[in-house]
Amino acid sequence: MVKDDCIFCKLANGVIPAASLYEDDDFRVILDANPASKGHALILPKHHYRDLTDLDEAVGARALSVAAKLGKAMLSGLNCTGFNLVQNNGETAGQTVMHFHIHVIPRYEGGPEMVAWKPGSVSPEETEKIVEAVTSKL
Ligand code: 5GP
Ligand code: ZN
Repeated sequence: MVKDDCIFCKLANGVIPAASLYEDDDFRVILDANPASKGHALILPKHHYRDLTDLDEAVGARALSVAAKLGKAMLSGLNCTGFNLVQNNGETAGQTVMHFHIHVIPRYEGGPEMVAWKPGSVSPEETEKIVEAVTSKL
């Protein structure tokens, strides 16, 4: 399904042109308009899925293969020394475009700090509650 008012549906299907790195039957990979680093790319399924909870499982599996292919090409083509996959689900998590996508962000020696968090702590009691809260919903 393609959503008429969705910018990523339009970009993924070539309705709006974008700098494309890769395309197959299921995906288009484009450069992010506001890159976190040189080569920051977005893997966009051609069909509309709101987020990971809405994504077709087979498409999800293929998306990871595309990410690996892209990452390898970035390591040799851009001379980055690593890359992050970032995938936001929900506004609280930073999702601004409600069409599933995976960020592939090349990382460079001495490049800016990103995709980092301050490690916290958790008690054994809290751990037990969290395990129960999640596993009871699986
Ligand atoms: P999110 O915050 O939803 O995980 O990521 C959305 C990303 O899409 C952002 O990094 C933003 O820069 C990028 N983006 C939003 N609109 C456009 C667009 O029209 N073209 C391109 N190439 N990237 C876009
Ligand atoms: Zn869409």
